[in-house]
Amino acid sequence: MHTFEFIRPADQTAAIAAAAQSKTAQQGADVRFLGGGTTLIDLMKLNVETPARVLDINRLPLDKIEAASDGGLKIGAMVRNSDLAYHATVQKDYSVLSQAILQGASAQIRNMATVGGNLLQRTRCVYFRDTAMACNKREPSSGCPAITGHNRTLAILGASEHCIATNPSDMGVALAALEATIHIQGTKGSRAIAFGDFHLLPGNTPHRETVLEPGDLITHVTLPAPIAGSKQIYVKLRDRASYEFALASAAVVLTIASGKVTRARVAMGGVGTKPWRLPEAEAALTGKPANDATFRQAAEAALRNAKPQSENKFKIELAKRCLTYTLRTATAS
Ligand code: SF4
Repeated sequence: MHTFEFIRPADQTAAIAAAAQSKTAQQGADVRFLGGGTTLIDLMKLNVETPARVLDINRLPLDKIEAASDGGLKIGAMVRNSDLAYHATVQKDYSVLSQAILQGASAQIRNMATVGGNLLQRTRCVYFRDTAMACNKREPSSGCPAITGHNRTLAILGASEHCIATNPSDMGVALAALEATIHIQGTKGSRAIAFGDFHLLPGNTPHRETVLEPGDLITHVTLPAPIAGSKQIYVKLRDRASYEFALASAAVVLTIASGKVTRARVAMGGVGTKPWRLPEAEAALTGKPANDATFRQAAEAALRNAKPQSENKFKIELAKRCLTYTLRTATAS
């Protein structure tokens, strides 16, 4: 049995100091913060995560949702997914976020899972979760059996020859479309990172998933001021209707005037190695008539660089239809 030290830091400073004692250079894999535990405890049971220290941060005061001074919203890292999804301001001004969260996991998991934990959610690649198998993400340079094995659910965007795992988050897709910012406190002070810069592409270091360094604590996420009159929709396509990860999903935030798209923010899930923002689709939409022809052109642009694996070529057309349908639904709402 793997043993570990369990610590409940008294405050944020103590939590960061304890986490900074990590002996690994990458993200501090030997020291983990414990929030809701809905990913970490699962992976510890499977021996995929074997931290020497677990720092329980549930008592830190990071569980508030507050108005930000710029008119946006400040969301504490320890806010539970359910509390965020049902928050009145989120439902009114950032409804795509509420929709995305409520299409993820189960009610019980959403009641436990935190915003910070969701940002660090790990892949559902079956080889990653099986310590009898090689996996570059779990054990660098050991190989990637998914490339020639079971890859039906894995990535068609952003993959490398070392890893083709999808990021499983629904919440992250909405945060990408809402242009969220992630706030981090570390041993060298605080910093803010645009959502799109937070997750790393696998490249030849798939074990490095984010820009976090040992000691870094996600404190909160901010959303910009809501866009007046925007239409927001999250659509998720999956093998079964609940408690399942996306094969393809889309989050769109659109504004339309005189029948034309005046502003578009688009991201997809289930297809990329991280929550996948689509500037190509946004450019193809902006200034164009809000109709099916435009939406399909945007979907074609979005998937232009997609590279399928042996079992998931179907995802390319599925993703195009998912995005087209989401845009059409948003326009009609
Ligand atoms: Fe591991 Fe990534 Fe390959 Fe899956 S796709 S086996 S997570 S290296």
